[in-house]
Amino acid sequence: MIKTVYLAKPRGFCAGVSRAILIVEKALEKYGSPIYVKHAIVHNIHVVEDLKKKGAIFVETIEEIPDGSTAIFSAHGSSPQEHEEAKKKNIKVIDAMCPLVGKVHLEAKTYAQKGCPIIYIGHKGHLEGLGVKGEVDRVRGKFHLIDSLEEAKAFSLDGQTPVAILTQTTLSVFETKDILKTLMQKFPQAILPPQKDICFATENRQEAVKLLGQKAEVVLVIGSQTSSNSNRLKEVAQSSGCKAYLIDDVSFVDSSWLDGMSTVGITSGASAPEYLVEQLIEYFKNLGVSDFQYIEAAKENLVFPLPKEL
Ligand code: SF4
Repeated sequence: MIKTVYLAKPRGFCAGVSRAILIVEKALEKYGSPIYVKHAIVHNIHVVEDLKKKGAIFVETIEEIPDGSTAIFSAHGSSPQEHEEAKKKNIKVIDAMCPLVGKVHLEAKTYAQKGCPIIYIGHKGHLEGLGVKGEVDRVRGKFHLIDSLEEAKAFSLDGQTPVAILTQTTLSVFETKDILKTLMQKFPQAILPPQKDICFATENRQEAVKLLGQKAEVVLVIGSQTSSNSNRLKEVAQSSGCKAYLIDDVSFVDSSWLDGMSTVGITSGASAPEYLVEQLIEYFKNLGVSDFQYIEAAKENLVFPLPKEL
């Protein structure tokens, strides 16, 4: 029987996600429907469905956006080539790329322009990496994607130019350390960004879920399967020694997961709305739980300004 529920702090929306969602809402207010959104604005099905109801139309390619319309590019960042394609179609673009993803774009471009091959630690096919690759391609630089420790171990590169190592913002802090260590042994002269690329929100949520995993026997992470940072939260919890499940919302809870357990931890990915966590808390209240305790890893109060168009 569940006696205690631990709640991670911080959890849920980060500054970049809050800004991206607000951009879509403000754009709908200012320009009216239809507003096209390239890619899921953030990787959460509930957020996307809520915005669809308000009049946003989600597409995957610029081709699908009618000439002359208004479009928002998602928080994960877009390549310069996509911006050029939109310009040719006279599309008014409002870019919801998180400023911290923008920082990695700028680093990639700057180092590639200096002739450094870019080694990018990230997940194959993830939009964030594709946008960064676009920056490197545009200045005819060299881009190498490393997706795992095994790939880092097998990786080699000819030539004397120092490499620059960048990362996706939502990786596991703990796993990336090993990949980085392996790469640094191969390329001791490698340039690293002045400020690390894994963002503060990812790091704080992972630190909190690590503590949660040390306290709770089972951890429930609210987030979509497509969300990189939510998947990492599940993995970090599991590596703390507990069972962990990634669920879109309370309806996905399988009561057998709780059999014989007395402590549960709850957290949510950076793209998951808080009302989904509240529904899950309600579920445990209905099971008779009255002991809810916060596990706090860090305080967050960062707010990113909206783009000038809004
Ligand atoms: S997880 Fe980090 S990089 Fe991604 S949107 Fe949030 S603050 Fe920005």
